[in-house]
Amino acid sequence: MRHSQRLTFQIVGPLPCRTAQPGGSADKNLPTSDFSFTFAPMNQNQHTDTATDERFMRMALAEAAEALAQDEVPIGAVVVADGMVVGRGHNLTETLRDVTAHAEMQAITAAAASIGGKYLDACTLYVTVEPCIMCAGAIGWSQMGRIVYGAPDPKRGFQTYAPRAFHPRASVTQGILEEECAQLMRDFFRRKR
Ligand SMILES: [Zn+2]
Repeated sequence: MRHSQRLTFQIVGPLPCRTAQPGGSADKNLPTSDFSFTFAPMNQNQHTDTATDERFMRMALAEAAEALAQDEVPIGAVVVADGMVVGRGHNLTETLRDVTAHAEMQAITAAAASIGGKYLDACTLYVTVEPCIMCAGAIGWSQMGRIVYGAPDPKRGFQTYAPRAFHPRASVTQGILEEECAQLMRDFFRRKR
């Protein structure tokens, strides 16, 4: 499958908003096996509004630029709920000397704190580079409703190793501002050589 193409997998219908009920029964929120998968044409889903996706991806790119300024691998992420950014983060593995301090992990933790609940099924994660398997696992645990990423990462990305890591109802869009996201990474690693 060519990565330069924008691919959208999506499920019809809004995901139920469970994030606004902190303290609710966790068991009820676990994935069940009776999901009905109905695939919708792209234009029937507001989530596929490319201009909106690009706007939030630019915010993720701004986070990536902050990482770059700190000599970190330039990856940034924002979490959006109801058109508002509820969490943001960039890679901080060098600064924190912590291999788990990826952009997505920072943004998920921040979003859960600002929403007041651990499940992010009503949220969209924008991240400049395809999540790794660690982050894909965290994204799955958070039940993130939608994931939008810019550049593919064939070496470390989850698609190669754990393509089913996300919540079964999550939708995925790739290739938003792909060139800009990838260019930032190329510039960084070229400078390192
Ligand atoms: Zn990661």
